Amino acid sequence: MLFSEKRLYLSGPAIFFDRDGVINCRRPGTYVLSWSQFLFTPGIEAALKQLATLRLPMIVISNQACVGKGLLDPAVLQEITVQMHQKLAAIGVFMAAAYYCIHRPDDNCICRKPKPGLLQNAADDYNIDLRGSVFIGDSDTDIQAGLAVGCKPILFGTTHCESSGYSLPASCIPVARTAVELFPISEKCLKDCGYSEPASDSF
Ligand SMILES: [Zn+2]
Repeated sequence: MLFSEKRLYLSGPAIFFDRDGVINCRRPGTYVLSWSQFLFTPGIEAALKQLATLRLPMIVISNQACVGKGLLDPAVLQEITVQMHQKLAAIGVFMAAAYYCIHRPDDNCICRKPKPGLLQNAADDYNIDLRGSVFIGDSDTDIQAGLAVGCKPILFGTTHCESSGYSLPASCIPVARTAVELFPISEKCLKDCGYSEPASDSF
């Protein structure tokens, strides 16, 4: 399930984001079922503005089993997504797309994270070099999905949002503890993968 207007991108990296726990605060034990329940995580809007200066496609990759469970109408998920896009666009942040898995865990679909189906769909649609891309997530399923397709995972752990689902050994996964750390860590990971920033005088 995809919400976006497709645009043609040259082959290159992208910045992927989990939604709940990264873009917006998790609601422990439940889901975001309306726009009024969608609260941006502290500092994320400023971080997204910084990341937008890298001029890479920024794409949301999110499990929303609440749809498959009948708790959320797909039209309401679309409304939440449109509102999110508009709020961010108002501050100059344009998300390229949002990909959702709307299946239940027991559907055994190919897109529910930790499976990498959504990342692969996005890569096909937007001509993305997954091995040069980063995936910012707050749970081990995000890390696993990213690693499965060669993305550099970045673990985002904000102290203001409840219940990060992360349990893998931290080992070599870079961690951004707050939104302020997201830009420098993401930039470093992208550069480590060979990305070079656009010249500042180009437009
Ligand atoms: Zn799915």
